[in-house]
Amino acid sequence: MTDTLSRTHAIALDAADPLKPLRGEFIFPQHQGADQTYFVGNSLGLQPRGARAMVQEVMDLWGSIAVEGHFTGPTRWMGYHRLVAESLARVVGAQPTEVVAMNTLSVNLHLMMVSFYRPTAERPAILIEAGAFPTDRHAVEAQIRFHGFNPATDLIEVQPDEANGTISMQAIERAIGEHGKRLALVLWPGVQYRSGQAFDLAAITRLARAQGANVGFDLAHSVGNLPLSLHDNGADFAVWCHYKYLNAGPGAVAGCFVHERHARDTGLPRFAGWWGHEEASRFQMAPQFVPAVGAEGWQLSNPPVLGLAPLRASLALFDQAGMEALRRKSLQLTGFLEALVQHRLAHVLQIVTPSQAERRGCQLSLRVLGGREQGRALFEYLQSVGVLGDWREPDVIRISPTPMYNRYRDVYRFVEEVETWAGV
Ligand SMILES: *Cc1c(COP(=O)(O)O)cnc(C)c1O
Repeated sequence: MTDTLSRTHAIALDAADPLKPLRGEFIFPQHQGADQTYFVGNSLGLQPRGARAMVQEVMDLWGSIAVEGHFTGPTRWMGYHRLVAESLARVVGAQPTEVVAMNTLSVNLHLMMVSFYRPTAERPAILIEAGAFPTDRHAVEAQIRFHGFNPATDLIEVQPDEANGTISMQAIERAIGEHGKRLALVLWPGVQYRSGQAFDLAAITRLARAQGANVGFDLAHSVGNLPLSLHDNGADFAVWCHYKYLNAGPGAVAGCFVHERHARDTGLPRFAGWWGHEEASRFQMAPQFVPAVGAEGWQLSNPPVLGLAPLRASLALFDQAGMEALRRKSLQLTGFLEALVQHRLAHVLQIVTPSQAERRGCQLSLRVLGGREQGRALFEYLQSVGVLGDWREPDVIRISPTPMYNRYRDVYRFVEEVETWAGV
């Protein structure tokens, strides 16, 4: 065992970690009197300590001045969604007017497809990855049927072509090239939820647009995980949720990006609601819909303020840390996990996630050798000792060390516990 794979080294890395103080900003579930070793930030991020005060503030305002809360003070509910726009824009690499926090991910995906999936007889198809997250698969199939087209021919799924079930850029390029003239929309994940594979969003955008197709991204597993450049990459839209790496709590209000080039396009079909109406004349309550400029023009309802409040606490931490610094730590933290798994657990676990840094975020998907029974047994053992990952059928444990609150010694502990279980 080389020195860089030792517990001493893990402790030294923690001591040198410039983001170390952030861990104290989160509440950890307890296991037998100690913090759980929590690797499930890709599923539900931990609660920022500041979140409760943000919710309490809304409750207090509601209690004390009720309807006046819409119009009173710096956090007035009328413009509450704007309190998060600038920080959110930094996290996803967009301009503040290109992002809006609204609804939930699946809802936003449908709303975006209403505007950006405009199939014609010549160009009816949507291209996605095979094995997409169910909601994405359901939504594209539903949209194709809704427009009177046929998923059997018009939903194109790019099959994995690499040994671990990941997808090469060549395969994506080939598929976009082959189906180009028929593609109305390319919908792609930033990070694939099952494999943890990250994609070159700039390249995918270029390829799709060169064929005349629109491009949208599902960033559920990317936002807060990888630095993003949505504006520069030039996708038409993106959607994401805020309860994973963004730590905004269960069912948190989601996010949506619409590229600036569509900001003033009043000709785009959209499912309109009064909150998407331009603010200056919204309360004239006239029958005609005049969309607000930018992503705000896709809002339906006045913002669910209680569901947005925790996001403010989380985004303050992202502003404090910065995505670049988070990514720097993430590369080292996940690299540490990868090295330990390769050197000490190769007889137990096979890494599914690509090993090139630019092809992954913080998550490693680990296939348990020996199959489902062994996998379940290991997963349950880890839970019993307070090490939390998550399980994906039939034999994968996903471990997501998040740079926001995980430590090198957490990663080391995971490896030790797997060794204990395996009887090393
Ligand atoms: C988590 C996740 C979702 C969740 O959708 P909701 O509408 O928030 O329930 C959707 N798509 C992907 C890829 C996800 O990882």
